[in-house]
Amino acid sequence: MRIVRSVEDIRAAVYEARGRGATVGLVPTMGAFHAGHLSLMQAARAAHDLVVVSLFVNPTQFGPNEDLAAYPRDEQRDARLAEQAGVDILFAPSAADMYPDGFATTVHVAGLTDVMCGAARPGHFDGVATVVAKLFGVVAPDAAYFGQKDAQQLLVIRRMVRDLDIPVRVVSCPIVREDDGLAMSSRNAYLDAASRQRATALHRALAAAADAVAHGTTDADAVLGTARAVLDAAGIDPEYLDLHSLDDLTAQEAVAPVALLAVAARVGAARLIDNMVLEAP
Ligand code: AMP
Repeated sequence: MRIVRSVEDIRAAVYEARGRGATVGLVPTMGAFHAGHLSLMQAARAAHDLVVVSLFVNPTQFGPNEDLAAYPRDEQRDARLAEQAGVDILFAPSAADMYPDGFATTVHVAGLTDVMCGAARPGHFDGVATVVAKLFGVVAPDAAYFGQKDAQQLLVIRRMVRDLDIPVRVVSCPIVREDDGLAMSSRNAYLDAASRQRATALHRALAAAADAVAHGTTDADAVLGTARAVLDAAGIDPEYLDLHSLDDLTAQEAVAPVALLAVAARVGAARLIDNMVLEAP
């Protein structure tokens, strides 16, 4: 596996591979790899000749009071794991490479970014959309792999690709969970033992709601009440806990017949998110 740091070098590497007829898969990440990241790399590996993983803790998607400085970073470990996953190139640029002096462009996806994490983290999705647009421009992959864990991010990227006619296929990969259901996240590293235990309530809340829906409850208040009771019992007051339409994230009054149940909550030192697609029987 090669580690490439500059935009110029990654372009040259992809150009050379394309000359050999290679197809290219890209997995954008912020590092601190866990099995969720590795599942994206494996999906890309199975489908492409050249697999590029970007590792960039993108400063523009962090708010002023967020965890940019504390975000876990261990490039050596990440490089080892990526290599074991069969990745060809780890693209790890510096912030100065990505945002040289005079950088002035922002990609804003309207509407979709007003709710959920967009409401709680102003500017976050502008940072995400802009850096992903740049990565698509730099790597020009055939397909890019994203986790359903970040369901809103996935929709934002899909909409950006559609609106800007970016010739990249966006592939969604399922949420990878710990044995006790907690969605894997780099931010789980912030949890002390007690918080780590409480954090399982997020998945338990989603699962309880899914169970209620499977048994015929479809009204949003009832479904959300079921989930909220589980969070309450764990002493978790969610930042949001909502039912949304799967395609444009508008609020749903009922699971009719499908809806996205999404939650964000601060648990100990971590802000965690999780979601589940609910389907009425
Ligand atoms: P991050 O490094 O947190 O920006 O995540 C990079 C990519 O990995 C994003 O597309 C995430 O949605 C995806 N990802 C993160 N956690 C998981 C998970 N538990 N299961 C599946 N994909 C994930």
